[in-house]
Amino acid sequence: MERRYEIRQEEVAYVCDACREGEMLSDGFCLTSNPPQYPHRCNRCGHMQTFDARYPFTRTSRLNAWTDDPHRRRADTSFTPAPLTASSAEAI
Ligand SMILES: [Zn+2]
Repeated sequence: MERRYEIRQEEVAYVCDACREGEMLSDGFCLTSNPPQYPHRCNRCGHMQTFDARYPFTRTSRLNAWTDDPHRRRADTSFTPAPLTASSAEAI
């Protein structure tokens, strides 16, 4: 059975630990260790560092509900009608 989810995407970048301004970018190489290591170079100061992941990368995360259930979808909308109070009920 398929189930569909709304997702949110975000890009994860790594800011250089040396200059704290540049962005660490993969140089395209992969060290075939276990786990694999990815050499990166800062695009501002040239600092080199190796990571377990290749930056930048895109991460997706599920939002609250699957989208093919109309009851869940309605419950997850941000719109919440204001409850009727005694005075607003009289105005209607
Ligand atoms: Zn740097």
